[in-house]
Amino acid sequence: MAASDKPFLLSIVIPVFNESEGLAHFHAALDRELKGHGWRQQIIYVDDGSNDETPAILKKIAAGDERVKLLSLSRNFGKEQATTAGLHAAVGDAVIIIDGDGQHPVELIPKFVQRWQKGAHVVIGVRTANQKEGFIKRAGSRLFYSSLRVFGVPNIVPGSTDFRLIDKQVLSEFKKLTERNRVTRALIDWLGYERDYIDFVANPRRHGTATYSFKKLVRLALNGFVSLSFMPLYLSGYMGVFITFLSFIASIFAIVEKYLLGDPLGWNITGTAILGIMILFLVGILLIGQGLLAIYVARIYTEVQNRPLYIIKD
Ligand code: UDP
Ligand code: MG
Repeated sequence: MAASDKPFLLSIVIPVFNESEGLAHFHAALDRELKGHGWRQQIIYVDDGSNDETPAILKKIAAGDERVKLLSLSRNFGKEQATTAGLHAAVGDAVIIIDGDGQHPVELIPKFVQRWQKGAHVVIGVRTANQKEGFIKRAGSRLFYSSLRVFGVPNIVPGSTDFRLIDKQVLSEFKKLTERNRVTRALIDWLGYERDYIDFVANPRRHGTATYSFKKLVRLALNGFVSLSFMPLYLSGYMGVFITFLSFIASIFAIVEKYLLGDPLGWNITGTAILGIMILFLVGILLIGQGLLAIYVARIYTEVQNRPLYIIKD
Protein backbone atom coordinates (compact mmCIF):
# COMPACT_ATOMS: atom_id res chain seq x y z
CA MET A 1 0.00 0.00 0.00
CA ALA A 2 1.11 3.53 -0.66
CA ALA A 3 3.12 5.44 1.85
CA SER A 4 0.91 7.85 3.70
CA ASP A 5 2.80 11.00 2.65
CA LYS A 6 2.17 10.42 -1.03
CA PRO A 7 -1.29 9.44 -2.28
CA PHE A 8 -1.38 6.11 -4.07
CA LEU A 9 -1.75 5.79 -7.80
CA LEU A 10 -4.86 4.08 -9.14
CA SER A 11 -4.73 2.81 -12.72
CA ILE A 12 -7.94 2.12 -14.58
CA VAL A 13 -7.87 -0.11 -17.63
CA ILE A 14 -10.74 0.12 -20.10
CA PRO A 15 -10.86 -2.05 -23.23
CA VAL A 16 -13.10 -0.54 -25.89
CA PHE A 17 -14.29 -1.79 -29.22
CA ASN A 18 -16.76 0.25 -31.25
CA GLU A 19 -18.24 2.10 -28.29
CA SER A 20 -18.50 5.53 -29.94
CA GLU A 21 -22.04 6.20 -28.80
CA GLY A 22 -21.63 5.64 -25.10
CA LEU A 23 -17.97 6.50 -24.59
CA ALA A 24 -18.20 10.23 -23.87
CA HIS A 25 -20.95 9.49 -21.40
CA PHE A 26 -18.88 6.78 -19.78
CA HIS A 27 -15.84 9.00 -19.42
CA ALA A 28 -17.91 11.81 -17.91
CA ALA A 29 -19.35 9.39 -15.34
CA LEU A 30 -15.89 8.03 -14.56
CA ASP A 31 -14.50 11.54 -14.20
CA ARG A 32 -17.32 12.53 -11.87
CA GLU A 33 -16.71 9.47 -9.74
CA LEU A 34 -12.95 9.95 -9.50
CA LYS A 35 -13.22 13.59 -8.55
CA GLY A 36 -12.99 14.45 -4.90
CA HIS A 37 -10.72 11.54 -4.08
CA GLY A 38 -7.13 12.32 -3.24
CA TRP A 39 -5.74 9.45 -5.31
CA ARG A 40 -3.42 9.98 -8.19
CA GLN A 41 -4.96 8.49 -11.29
CA GLN A 42 -3.95 6.86 -14.54
CA ILE A 43 -6.72 6.08 -17.00
CA ILE A 44 -5.78 3.71 -19.82
CA TYR A 45 -8.14 3.30 -22.73
CA VAL A 46 -7.27 0.45 -25.07
CA ASP A 47 -8.85 0.85 -28.46
CA ASP A 48 -9.22 -2.69 -29.71
CA GLY A 49 -9.17 -1.86 -33.42
CA SER A 50 -12.51 -0.05 -33.50
CA ASN A 51 -13.81 0.85 -36.94
CA ASP A 52 -16.27 3.55 -35.91
CA GLU A 53 -15.79 6.99 -34.34
CA THR A 54 -14.23 5.51 -31.19
CA PRO A 55 -10.59 6.42 -32.01
CA ALA A 56 -11.48 10.06 -32.64
CA ILE A 57 -13.54 10.28 -29.46
CA LEU A 58 -10.75 8.72 -27.46
CA LYS A 59 -8.25 11.20 -28.87
CA LYS A 60 -10.48 14.04 -27.82
CA ILE A 61 -10.86 12.59 -24.33
CA ALA A 62 -7.09 12.10 -24.05
CA ALA A 63 -6.37 15.64 -25.25
CA GLY A 64 -8.55 17.18 -22.58
CA ASP A 65 -7.37 15.04 -19.69
CA GLU A 66 -3.74 14.52 -18.73
CA ARG A 67 -4.56 11.41 -16.68
CA VAL A 68 -5.64 9.58 -19.81
CA LYS A 69 -3.29 7.33 -21.73
CA LEU A 70 -4.42 5.93 -25.03
CA LEU A 71 -3.34 2.62 -26.56
CA SER A 72 -4.52 1.70 -30.04
CA LEU A 73 -4.23 -1.86 -31.22
CA SER A 74 -3.58 -2.37 -34.93
CA ARG A 75 -6.74 -4.44 -35.36
CA ASN A 76 -9.44 -6.10 -33.30
CA PHE A 77 -7.66 -8.64 -31.12
CA GLY A 78 -10.50 -9.30 -28.69
CA LYS A 79 -11.19 -8.11 -25.20
CA GLU A 80 -8.75 -10.46 -23.47
CA GLN A 81 -5.80 -9.24 -25.49
CA ALA A 82 -6.90 -5.62 -25.21
CA THR A 83 -7.18 -5.92 -21.44
CA THR A 84 -3.77 -7.53 -21.29
CA ALA A 85 -2.27 -4.66 -23.29
CA GLY A 86 -3.80 -2.20 -20.83
CA LEU A 87 -2.54 -4.12 -17.82
CA HIS A 88 0.96 -4.23 -19.26
CA ALA A 89 0.90 -0.43 -19.50
CA ALA A 90 -0.50 0.09 -16.00
CA VAL A 91 1.88 1.34 -13.34
CA GLY A 92 -0.52 1.99 -10.44
CA ASP A 93 -0.38 0.73 -6.86
CA ALA A 94 -3.72 -0.82 -7.70
CA VAL A 95 -5.39 -1.42 -11.06
CA ILE A 96 -9.07 -1.60 -11.84
CA ILE A 97 -10.35 -3.26 -15.02
CA ILE A 98 -13.72 -1.99 -16.16
CA ASP A 99 -15.83 -2.27 -19.32
CA GLY A 100 -16.22 0.87 -21.38
CA ASP A 101 -19.85 0.25 -22.28
CA GLY A 102 -21.22 1.52 -18.97
CA GLN A 103 -22.41 -1.88 -17.80
CA HIS A 104 -20.02 -1.95 -14.87
CA PRO A 105 -21.13 0.76 -12.42
CA VAL A 106 -18.32 3.29 -11.92
CA GLU A 107 -19.92 4.26 -8.58
CA LEU A 108 -18.42 1.10 -7.13
CA ILE A 109 -14.83 2.11 -7.75
CA PRO A 110 -14.37 3.70 -4.28
CA LYS A 111 -15.72 0.51 -2.73
CA PHE A 112 -13.16 -1.57 -4.64
CA VAL A 113 -10.44 0.76 -3.41
CA GLN A 114 -11.68 0.51 0.19
CA ARG A 115 -11.54 -3.28 0.12
CA TRP A 116 -8.04 -3.11 -1.30
CA GLN A 117 -6.97 -0.71 1.45
CA LYS A 118 -8.36 -3.18 3.95
CA GLY A 119 -5.89 -5.73 2.62
CA ALA A 120 -7.49 -7.62 -0.28
CA HIS A 121 -5.06 -8.10 -3.16
CA VAL A 122 -7.79 -9.00 -5.63
CA VAL A 123 -11.27 -7.52 -5.45
CA ILE A 124 -13.72 -9.21 -7.79
CA GLY A 125 -17.01 -7.80 -9.01
CA VAL A 126 -19.70 -10.48 -8.91
CA ARG A 127 -22.70 -9.95 -11.12
CA THR A 128 -25.80 -10.91 -9.19
CA ALA A 129 -28.57 -10.19 -11.63
CA ASN A 130 -28.55 -8.84 -15.10
CA GLN A 131 -31.49 -6.91 -16.33
CA LYS A 132 -32.37 -7.68 -19.89
CA GLU A 133 -29.66 -10.18 -20.51
CA GLY A 134 -30.80 -13.05 -22.66
CA PHE A 135 -31.89 -16.26 -21.01
CA ILE A 136 -29.40 -18.26 -23.05
CA LYS A 137 -26.47 -16.09 -21.95
CA ARG A 138 -27.45 -16.35 -18.29
CA ALA A 139 -28.06 -20.09 -18.45
CA GLY A 140 -24.83 -20.49 -20.38
CA SER A 141 -22.78 -18.69 -17.78
CA ARG A 142 -24.40 -20.67 -14.97
CA LEU A 143 -23.63 -23.90 -16.82
CA PHE A 144 -20.05 -22.75 -17.33
CA TYR A 145 -19.42 -22.12 -13.64
CA SER A 146 -21.16 -25.23 -12.39
CA SER A 147 -19.30 -27.46 -14.81
CA LEU A 148 -16.02 -25.83 -13.82
CA ARG A 149 -16.75 -26.90 -10.28
CA VAL A 150 -17.72 -30.42 -11.36
CA PHE A 151 -14.48 -30.66 -13.32
CA GLY A 152 -12.44 -29.89 -10.26
CA VAL A 153 -11.67 -26.19 -10.57
CA PRO A 154 -12.52 -24.87 -7.11
CA ASN A 155 -12.80 -21.38 -5.72
CA ILE A 156 -14.42 -19.58 -8.57
CA VAL A 157 -17.49 -17.69 -7.46
CA PRO A 158 -20.29 -17.94 -10.06
CA GLY A 159 -20.92 -14.58 -11.68
CA SER A 160 -17.32 -13.39 -11.27
CA THR A 161 -16.59 -10.79 -13.91
CA ASP A 162 -13.68 -8.90 -15.37
CA PHE A 163 -14.72 -5.91 -13.28
CA ARG A 164 -12.00 -6.24 -10.69
CA LEU A 165 -9.18 -4.58 -8.87
CA ILE A 166 -5.73 -6.07 -8.50
CA ASP A 167 -2.86 -4.96 -6.33
CA LYS A 168 0.44 -4.00 -7.97
CA GLN A 169 2.01 -7.18 -6.65
CA VAL A 170 -0.58 -9.28 -8.48
CA LEU A 171 -0.10 -7.07 -11.54
CA SER A 172 3.61 -7.67 -11.61
CA GLU A 173 3.03 -11.44 -11.44
CA PHE A 174 0.41 -11.13 -14.17
CA LYS A 175 2.93 -9.38 -16.40
CA LYS A 176 5.17 -12.45 -16.21
CA LEU A 177 2.56 -14.77 -17.70
CA THR A 178 3.36 -15.53 -21.31
CA GLU A 179 0.64 -17.84 -22.58
CA ARG A 180 -1.25 -16.76 -25.68
CA ASN A 181 -4.69 -18.32 -25.45
CA ARG A 182 -5.76 -16.35 -22.44
CA VAL A 183 -8.76 -15.44 -20.39
CA THR A 184 -7.71 -12.55 -18.20
CA ARG A 185 -9.93 -13.34 -15.25
CA ALA A 186 -8.99 -17.01 -15.29
CA LEU A 187 -5.33 -16.03 -15.08
CA ILE A 188 -6.00 -13.64 -12.21
CA ASP A 189 -7.94 -16.41 -10.47
CA TRP A 190 -5.02 -18.73 -11.00
CA LEU A 191 -2.59 -16.24 -9.44
CA GLY A 192 -4.31 -16.51 -6.06
CA TYR A 193 -3.76 -13.92 -3.27
CA GLU A 194 -6.33 -12.65 -0.78
CA ARG A 195 -9.62 -12.01 -2.50
CA ASP A 196 -12.68 -10.08 -1.71
CA TYR A 197 -15.96 -9.90 -3.59
CA ILE A 198 -18.34 -7.08 -4.35
CA ASP A 199 -21.82 -7.87 -5.65
CA PHE A 200 -23.21 -5.64 -8.33
CA VAL A 201 -26.08 -5.49 -10.76
CA ALA A 202 -24.89 -4.78 -14.29
CA ASN A 203 -26.43 -1.76 -15.96
CA PRO A 204 -28.23 -2.38 -19.20
CA ARG A 205 -26.23 -1.37 -22.23
CA ARG A 206 -27.19 2.19 -23.18
CA HIS A 207 -25.95 2.02 -26.73
CA GLY A 208 -25.14 -0.62 -29.25
CA THR A 209 -25.23 -4.32 -28.64
CA ALA A 210 -22.79 -6.53 -26.81
CA THR A 211 -20.03 -7.12 -29.28
CA TYR A 212 -19.44 -10.53 -27.87
CA SER A 213 -21.27 -12.75 -30.30
CA PHE A 214 -22.53 -16.16 -29.28
CA LYS A 215 -19.66 -17.76 -31.14
CA LYS A 216 -17.10 -15.62 -29.30
CA LEU A 217 -18.70 -16.45 -25.96
CA VAL A 218 -18.54 -20.16 -26.65
CA ARG A 219 -14.90 -19.79 -27.61
CA LEU A 220 -14.24 -17.82 -24.44
CA ALA A 221 -15.90 -20.48 -22.30
CA LEU A 222 -13.89 -23.21 -24.04
CA ASN A 223 -10.68 -21.26 -23.55
CA GLY A 224 -11.44 -20.71 -19.89
CA PHE A 225 -12.13 -24.39 -19.49
CA VAL A 226 -9.09 -25.62 -21.29
CA SER A 227 -6.76 -23.26 -19.47
CA LEU A 228 -8.08 -24.14 -16.03
CA SER A 229 -8.87 -27.83 -16.30
CA PHE A 230 -7.53 -30.93 -18.00
CA MET A 231 -10.78 -32.79 -17.50
CA PRO A 232 -11.85 -32.48 -21.17
CA LEU A 233 -8.61 -34.15 -22.23
CA TYR A 234 -8.95 -36.97 -19.76
CA LEU A 235 -12.62 -37.57 -20.51
CA SER A 236 -12.08 -40.24 -23.19
CA GLY A 237 -9.72 -42.09 -20.89
CA TYR A 238 -12.33 -42.27 -18.18
CA MET A 239 -14.92 -43.33 -20.72
CA GLY A 240 -12.56 -46.06 -21.88
CA VAL A 241 -12.16 -47.41 -18.37
CA PHE A 242 -15.92 -47.39 -17.91
CA ILE A 243 -16.64 -49.14 -21.24
CA THR A 244 -13.98 -51.77 -20.71
CA PHE A 245 -15.41 -52.46 -17.29
CA LEU A 246 -18.85 -52.77 -18.81
CA SER A 247 -17.64 -55.27 -21.40
CA PHE A 248 -15.99 -57.32 -18.65
CA ILE A 249 -19.20 -57.57 -16.72
CA ALA A 250 -21.12 -58.46 -19.86
CA SER A 251 -18.70 -61.16 -20.89
CA ILE A 252 -18.66 -62.75 -17.44
CA PHE A 253 -22.43 -62.80 -17.54
CA ALA A 254 -22.44 -64.39 -20.97
CA ILE A 255 -19.86 -67.05 -20.10
CA VAL A 256 -21.46 -68.04 -16.82
CA GLU A 257 -25.02 -67.96 -18.08
CA LYS A 258 -24.57 -69.67 -21.41
CA TYR A 259 -21.57 -71.99 -21.14
CA LEU A 260 -21.23 -72.86 -17.46
CA LEU A 261 -24.88 -73.05 -16.47
CA GLY A 262 -26.34 -73.98 -19.84
CA ASP A 263 -28.68 -71.02 -20.24
CA PRO A 264 -30.98 -71.48 -17.23
CA LEU A 265 -32.49 -68.01 -17.76
CA GLY A 266 -33.29 -68.76 -21.37
CA TRP A 267 -31.42 -65.68 -22.62
CA ASN A 268 -30.25 -67.42 -25.70
CA ILE A 269 -27.08 -65.34 -26.08
CA THR A 270 -26.13 -65.34 -29.75
CA GLY A 271 -22.77 -65.10 -31.47
CA THR A 272 -23.70 -61.54 -32.49
CA ALA A 273 -24.10 -60.60 -28.84
CA ILE A 274 -20.67 -62.03 -28.08
CA LEU A 275 -19.29 -60.04 -31.00
CA GLY A 276 -20.92 -56.92 -29.57
CA ILE A 277 -19.24 -57.51 -26.25
CA MET A 278 -15.87 -57.94 -27.96
CA ILE A 279 -16.32 -54.71 -29.89
CA LEU A 280 -17.22 -52.93 -26.67
CA PHE A 281 -14.03 -54.27 -25.13
CA LEU A 282 -11.87 -53.11 -28.01
CA VAL A 283 -13.44 -49.64 -28.08
CA GLY A 284 -12.75 -49.39 -24.38
CA ILE A 285 -9.12 -50.28 -24.89
CA LEU A 286 -8.80 -47.70 -27.67
CA LEU A 287 -10.29 -44.97 -25.49
CA ILE A 288 -7.96 -45.88 -22.65
CA GLY A 289 -5.09 -45.51 -25.11
CA GLN A 290 -6.36 -42.03 -25.98
CA GLY A 291 -6.57 -41.21 -22.30
CA LEU A 292 -2.93 -42.21 -21.86
CA LEU A 293 -1.97 -39.96 -24.77
CA ALA A 294 -3.99 -37.19 -23.15
CA ILE A 295 -1.88 -37.41 -20.02
CA TYR A 296 1.24 -36.70 -22.06
CA VAL A 297 -0.46 -33.97 -24.07
CA ALA A 298 -1.55 -32.31 -20.83
CA ARG A 299 2.04 -32.33 -19.65
CA ILE A 300 3.28 -30.81 -22.88
CA TYR A 301 0.56 -28.19 -22.59
CA THR A 302 1.58 -27.14 -19.09
CA GLU A 303 5.22 -26.98 -20.14
CA VAL A 304 4.33 -24.81 -23.12
CA GLN A 305 2.14 -22.51 -21.04
CA ASN A 306 5.27 -21.83 -19.06
CA ARG A 307 3.48 -20.53 -16.00
CA PRO A 308 5.62 -19.94 -12.95
CA LEU A 309 5.84 -22.95 -10.67
CA TYR A 310 4.76 -20.94 -7.67
CA ILE A 311 4.24 -17.38 -6.61
CA ILE A 312 5.79 -15.98 -3.47
CA LYS A 313 3.58 -13.55 -1.62
CA ASP A 314 5.91 -12.30 1.11
N1 UDP B 1 -14.44 -5.26 -26.16
C1 UDP B 1 -13.16 -5.20 -26.70
N2 UDP B 1 -12.85 -6.01 -27.77
C2 UDP B 1 -13.77 -6.87 -28.32
C3 UDP B 1 -15.06 -6.93 -27.75
C4 UDP B 1 -15.36 -6.13 -26.66
O1 UDP B 1 -12.31 -4.46 -26.22
O2 UDP B 1 -13.44 -7.54 -29.29
C5 UDP B 1 -14.78 -4.39 -25.00
C6 UDP B 1 -16.08 -3.61 -25.15
O3 UDP B 1 -15.88 -2.39 -25.81
C7 UDP B 1 -16.50 -3.43 -23.71
C8 UDP B 1 -16.01 -4.71 -23.04
O4 UDP B 1 -14.97 -5.20 -23.88
O5 UDP B 1 -15.88 -2.31 -23.11
C9 UDP B 1 -17.12 -5.70 -22.85
O6 UDP B 1 -17.67 -6.03 -24.09
P1 UDP B 1 -19.20 -6.40 -24.31
O7 UDP B 1 -20.07 -5.38 -23.67
O8 UDP B 1 -19.37 -6.66 -25.76
O9 UDP B 1 -19.30 -7.79 -23.54
P2 UDP B 1 -20.23 -8.22 -22.31
O10 UDP B 1 -20.81 -6.99 -21.67
O11 UDP B 1 -21.23 -9.11 -22.91
O12 UDP B 1 -19.27 -8.93 -21.42
MG1 MG C 1 -21.08 -5.17 -22.00
